[in-house]
Amino acid sequence: MVELDCPKCLERKLSNRLKLEIYEGNYEIRGVIRCLIDQHERPIVINKNYLHQLDESLPGEQSSRLLPSVPDDIKDDIREAERANYAQCYKACVAMCRRALQLSLIEKGIADKNLSAMLQEAKERNLLNQDTFVFATTLKIYGDKGVHKNEKLEPEKVKLAIYVAVQMLNELFK
Ligand SMILES: [Zn+2]
Repeated sequence: MVELDCPKCLERKLSNRLKLEIYEGNYEIRGVIRCLIDQHERPIVINKNYLHQLDESLPGEQSSRLLPSVPDDIKDDIREAERANYAQCYKACVAMCRRALQLSLIEKGIADKNLSAMLQEAKERNLLNQDTFVFATTLKIYGDKGVHKNEKLEPEKVKLAIYVAVQMLNELFK
């Protein structure tokens, strides 16, 4: 039996406990649990009735830092990147971060072309400062790995990609 409380509900002294029991068979359950009271989400992996792994970081941790001025569709991309990360779909995660980067540059009036050229133009137009430009270039490299190459992405670097994407979006839309 696996029992889990929603931490946000617990804080408010609400009883909202999930009980899961698998009686037989060889199964692994993997996904995201959402509390329907406060929408709090947490990733979960249950392996043969045993709570195998629960990521410490909670979804929404990075996307909640996005400035209100960042367009909603781009915010959605970052939220989806976080979801992909919790589901351990690392390539999908960095691909979403890269997409957010590209869309945000287009939103800022830079014509859709090769992403490196777009970043260069953003820097020349002072939309990105030197630090953010370097960040964004790093993100592009991660994104390329996610999209084009058959390379393995390390979970730590994937987390960093989301962090970098949020920094860069806040800089672009400040
Ligand atoms: Zn809750």
